[in-house]
Amino acid sequence: MSYALTEEQQLIQQNAREFTAEYVAPAAGEIDHTGVHPAAIVAKMVEQDFLGIFLPGEFGGAEAGYLSYALIIEEISRVSGAVASILISHASLAAYSIYRYGSAAQKQAFLPALCQGEKVGAFAFTEPGAAPGAGMHKVTAQKEGGSYVLNGRKCYVANGGAAGLYIVFAQTNPEAGAQGISAFIVDSGASGLSTVRTIGKMGLRGCQSAELEFNNVIVPAANLLGAEGAGLAIAAEAQAAASIAEGAMVVGIAQAAMEDAVKYGKQRIQFRRPIASFPAIQTMLAEMAANIHMLRLAVYDAASLLDNGEPFANEAAIIKLFAGRIGQSALIDVIQIEGGYGYSQEMVASRLYRDVKGACLKNSSLDFPEKVIAGNLLA
Ligand SMILES: Cc1cc2nc3c(=O)[nH]c(=O)nc-3n(C[C@H](O)[C@H](O)[C@H](O)COP(=O)(O)OP(=O)(O)OC[C@H]3O[C@@H](n4cnc5c(N)ncnc54)[C@H](O)[C@@H]3O)c2cc1C
Repeated sequence: MSYALTEEQQLIQQNAREFTAEYVAPAAGEIDHTGVHPAAIVAKMVEQDFLGIFLPGEFGGAEAGYLSYALIIEEISRVSGAVASILISHASLAAYSIYRYGSAAQKQAFLPALCQGEKVGAFAFTEPGAAPGAGMHKVTAQKEGGSYVLNGRKCYVANGGAAGLYIVFAQTNPEAGAQGISAFIVDSGASGLSTVRTIGKMGLRGCQSAELEFNNVIVPAANLLGAEGAGLAIAAEAQAAASIAEGAMVVGIAQAAMEDAVKYGKQRIQFRRPIASFPAIQTMLAEMAANIHMLRLAVYDAASLLDNGEPFANEAAIIKLFAGRIGQSALIDVIQIEGGYGYSQEMVASRLYRDVKGACLKNSSLDFPEKVIAGNLLA
């Protein structure tokens, strides 16, 4: 599909395909098996400028745009959802938040290290037991002189434990409820910040998820991102940007699964014919291909909106809604086509199924996508 990709975007896509074939594909099974952050592959992605691919050159980025980034995510996801997930948490959530809401000094201080891979970024929003700011472990930030003191717990933080920098959402004004949440840039080496545990997951297993504890962590007031109370707006925009990338992730995973099913369907003989000749199999493949095509168009379109500085929250919600529906159904159909073999760990479909479920759950937008889309319709 061309989608009027520029020559540069096509080269980036081709380069990402060659990169993943050479470095990511051989390690994908092992990454899934061990569930350990693949630092060597992240280092290789740094060499390719993937970590700051859409960020401005003045901060060490490649300035290639969000659509180019989405193309890279799609290619990586074809072979490893976990590696794509690492990049999304780093780029769409952590780096993007600073790029969009950081002061000039904060961008200068933090973006170069993120672009050059000196620090991997992570986004600490979710809290154990209840919605952020509502439960007994909520993270609070108390202002004391020129600093804030953070206490509480975050859970499910992707890249947790491997990251060098966290965007942490904490309540600066508990009386204001969700409107009292602020965002902070926190160095992973800050005293009092510890990884309580890594959380085992069914998929995206090399993208470590951690529970973090903040025990009187002192954060300079200069690391407040945006204004006090702006946390929800920052989280909403970053999560919308991440939804576009997660849509690209679902496209990549589903495309890989479909190609596997086509190959299998041509080879597998039943009743003296390849199973791909049966109408029931062709119907599943055709629906899969149509859905992947539509989702890909939606992803490229939303990424282009972001690149053009236009609003993209509605399109990101549409992607989230559609990707959630078609990603899992594609993988269930692929396993059906591949029969008992598809269900076995000898075939790649079972890993892709576990990964696509994670891609759809990874970062819920603050509101359900249906609510965002209907809200825009009814406004
Ligand atoms: C792979 C992965 C990576 C993640 N990475 C990160 C990360 O980097 N940083 C981070 O902060 N978090 C991360 N998360 C956490 C993720 O953002 C949360 O899991 C998500 O926000 C949902 O929150 P929850 O798990 O508490 O579910 P809940 O909000 O408790 O939802 C549980 C169920 O209840 C339903 N539900 C909830 N509210 C309503 C309602 N009002 N009406 C009807 N139904 C409702 C939901 O749809 C769902 O089915 C990650 C999660 C996964 C799976």
